[in-house]
Amino acid sequence: MDKVIILGSGAASGVPTISNGWGKCDAKNSKNRRSRAGVYVQIGENKVLIDTSADLRNQLIENNIRKVDAVLYTHVHADHLMGIDDLRAMNYTVNELFGGGKNIKGKRLSIYAIKEHLDEIRHRFGYVLADEKSPEITHRPQLVSYEVEYGTEILIGKMRIMPLAFAGHPVPTTGYVFNEGQLVVVPDYKIIPSQTLEYLQNIDVNVLIMPLTNIRECIYHAGMDIDLDYIKKIKPKRVFFTHLGPECDYETVLKMCPKGIEPAYDNLVIEL
Ligand SMILES: [Zn+2]
Repeated sequence: MDKVIILGSGAASGVPTISNGWGKCDAKNSKNRRSRAGVYVQIGENKVLIDTSADLRNQLIENNIRKVDAVLYTHVHADHLMGIDDLRAMNYTVNELFGGGKNIKGKRLSIYAIKEHLDEIRHRFGYVLADEKSPEITHRPQLVSYEVEYGTEILIGKMRIMPLAFAGHPVPTTGYVFNEGQLVVVPDYKIIPSQTLEYLQNIDVNVLIMPLTNIRECIYHAGMDIDLDYIKKIKPKRVFFTHLGPECDYETVLKMCPKGIEPAYDNLVIEL
C-alpha cells in the first residue's frame, strides 16, 4: 500500500510546549499531543523520510520503521534536523538489528537537500558526512549527501521526486512532489513563488500536506487564510494540515476546514 505516515504533526515547540503548556489546545484530546515535524513516505518498495526532528527515535519506534532508502530535508532549522544522529540505526542491516550486534559495514544512507542546506549540515554535523568518500567502521551515522536543484527531478527507486522552492521563512525551504502529484509535501513557508505555484497548478495533486503553524499568519508562517487561498489555486483532492502550533486546537481547526481538508495528528496514516 502506498502511504504516508505523519510522524510528527507539531511546530517547533511541539505540543504541549515547555513555556506555554497546551496553549489553546484541549489537553484531553490525544490528537493535540504533537511531536516535531516529520513525514514517512512509502510508495511501492521505496521508503523515504522527510526531515529528522529531535523526536525521530520515538517516531520510528512507534511506527515500526526500521529502514528507509533516503532522507529528504526541507530545511535545517532545529525542529527539522536535530534527530540526525538517530539515522545511525539505519546503517545496520535488519539482521544486525535483531540478532547481530555487529558494527556498521559502510552501508551508507543517502540524504538529499539543496546545497545551502547540505553546507549547513556539514558545518554543524560534519562527522555524519566525514566518511562519504572512504567509509569505515565507526559508531557514527554514515551518510552520503546528494544535492538537489529546484525543478530537477530525482529518482529514488521508482519514486520520482521533484524538489520545489518555497519562500517567506527566514531561510529557503524545499517542498517535494512525488510522482507528479500523488503526494505533495509543503515545507515551512509563507509565500509560494510563482514558478512553484505554476508547477503545482499544472499537475493533479492527490494528497497535499501543508503547514498550519498558526491559525492567523505570523511573520514567518502562512495562516489559515493564506493556506486556503493557495489550496483553491492548487485544487488538491485531499489536504492535511501539519506543523500545528499550540494555537491550533484539533477540533477548532477541523471545524474551520472546508470539505476535503483536515488537521493531521501524530501517527496518522494516509493511503495514497
Ligand atoms: Zn518548523
